[in-house]
Amino acid sequence: MVTGCGLEVGLRKKRDCEALRGFGQLVTAKEFVMKCATLGEQFFEILTQVHDYLSFYEQCGLEGISHGSNIPEKQATTFTLETIAAQLQDCQRCPLHRQRTHILFGEGNPRATLVFIGASPDAEEDQQGQAFVGPAGELLTKILQAIGLCREDVYLTNLVKCHPPQNRNPEPAEIATCQPFLNAQLEFLRPRIICTLGSLATQALLNTEVPFAELRGHFYDYHGIKVMPTYHPSDLLAHPQQKRSAWEDMQRIQQEYVGFSRAETIPRLHTITGEAERPE
Ligand code: SF4
Repeated sequence: MVTGCGLEVGLRKKRDCEALRGFGQLVTAKEFVMKCATLGEQFFEILTQVHDYLSFYEQCGLEGISHGSNIPEKQATTFTLETIAAQLQDCQRCPLHRQRTHILFGEGNPRATLVFIGASPDAEEDQQGQAFVGPAGELLTKILQAIGLCREDVYLTNLVKCHPPQNRNPEPAEIATCQPFLNAQLEFLRPRIICTLGSLATQALLNTEVPFAELRGHFYDYHGIKVMPTYHPSDLLAHPQQKRSAWEDMQRIQQEYVGFSRAETIPRLHTITGEAERPE
């Protein structure tokens, strides 16, 4: 049985709060009734979202979700990347399902210390059914090699798992709908470092509207995980002058990564069972 909830998923949305404004200025019974009807619809929509959110976690085998945290330190049961991915089969939870070719859940090392999160699969990834392919993917591979890593060392995923048409950015509602899958992935992976690629992934994960230019190049905390925002490889292809800054960001990640790799000799608890040690 799920014992917590993700009410903040629905309540964070600005539009959910819109109808609350102006109540102090109501003057007629008709306006009051109309406001109540609007609030009722929005409340029902929020409850539906929460129900879907909790159902998803139950289907993944989670028995409890703590309040106020997307990534609980410990869970009382087991689930895997495979069980999470299984919930995505022919997912039609948001409009992005209509024009996708493949769902790109994510790929890489399930024991990765470092996870990269982009915004959404691009057209080439959608066609090939593989994450971070094409020129941007090749550049990411080179960047990893430059800090002594390969793709098999890390885990790669996106905020949303389906390609938005015309390469547009995913809408906030689409990100929110797909977010439980990303949260569950991070709960399982529990990486030491997350590198967010680009402004959308950074602002969505850190839940902030601070401009990317201010966020980039600094570490932030995400439920105990260090987050380094940097440019998306596709941005670097379009704006090669940003490569120097991106390289500096990757060096910061490398320094942290080396430190964590040394610390890996100390067994650490995995978050899923609360009992198992992190597999070596
Ligand atoms: S983006 Fe996520 S929520 Fe939307 S259809 Fe694809 S898998 Fe489902």
